Amino acid sequence: MINVKQIPLLSDNYCYLLRDNETGAVAVIDPGDAKPVLNEAKRLGWQITDVILTHHHYDHVDGVAEIKAQTGATVTGPTKDTHRIEHLDKTVDGGDTLTFGSQTAKVFYVPGHTLGHIAYWFEKSGILFPGDSLFALGCGRLFEGTPEMMWQSLQQYLSLPKQTVVYCAHEYTLANAEFALTIDPTNKDLIQRVAEIRKLRSEGKPTVPSTLDEEFKTNPFLRPNDPQIREQLKMVSATDAEVFKEIRLRKDNF
Ligand code: ZN
Ligand code: FE
Repeated sequence: MINVKQIPLLSDNYCYLLRDNETGAVAVIDPGDAKPVLNEAKRLGWQITDVILTHHHYDHVDGVAEIKAQTGATVTGPTKDTHRIEHLDKTVDGGDTLTFGSQTAKVFYVPGHTLGHIAYWFEKSGILFPGDSLFALGCGRLFEGTPEMMWQSLQQYLSLPKQTVVYCAHEYTLANAEFALTIDPTNKDLIQRVAEIRKLRSEGKPTVPSTLDEEFKTNPFLRPNDPQIREQLKMVSATDAEVFKEIRLRKDNF
């Protein structure tokens, strides 16, 4: 069993503390800031043993140096980002297995947002940490990769169990929701989800995590094959990659 604690930091980031209950090992995923993480670990009485990274952006790594200095934690990150992430002790790439405590996660290579980006799937616990590849009702901006590349990356998630809980790295859901409605305006699941999201945000509550099932039903970036979306975009006979590219382009200009 893994206990997951969500820690909001910077303006809209989430990082996560994971405790392996069997061994007491504690991992932090994507600490963009050290203080809130160290404070929360202290409050919980958890000793951080591992730092796990999805990509090199500052809002995911800037807390690494201080956390490592204070805890001696082992830092693991993407093999392809070795040249631009400091303090790495170990690296993993798509197809590898990450271990911390008695836990194992499958590593997916999910380039697009950045070229080194990886994600972690803890199969036994049914939880996914996609970093900035997948958001609630959205996907990461394409800073380094192509839309084709990002669509390839996201397709790896389509085969995971739909009850998988998705802990994404930002609270972008409300803005994503407004956009999703322009792509998929008649989707009843989406309309209902947006109402729930508006309520949660008006109460100052997080909309993360979500489940893959919710994302499969409502996230336009995972649904380029949907007939209603294709009709809305007037792309009935386009490829999924072409539809995905159009949705991403529209979001960039939204
Ligand atoms: Zn990022
Ligand atoms: Fe980010």
